[in-house]
Amino acid sequence: MSCSSKKKSYYDPESAERALIEARIRFAGNNAINVYQCLECGEWHLTSKGVMNERLSEMIQTGELNEEIKKYEWREKYGG
Ligand SMILES: [Zn+2]
Repeated sequence: MSCSSKKKSYYDPESAERALIEARIRFAGNNAINVYQCLECGEWHLTSKGVMNERLSEMIQTGELNEEIKKYEWREKYGG
């Protein structure tokens, strides 16, 4: 379905949440903090506005996100 937001869309909130966390791990400058269901296309997009996603917030608080970022950077550097 087309959407004027031009944002990447996800079929369900679980996929969008996974993409949100992936984006935060892979792209240092990424500022997406949550997912929302679009009124226009009915699918899910990422957003940098509003309250932070619970899972993401938890990952930041526990340091899990930083661990994932380190792992990702290591893989990028050394392969594997
Ligand atoms: Zn949309």
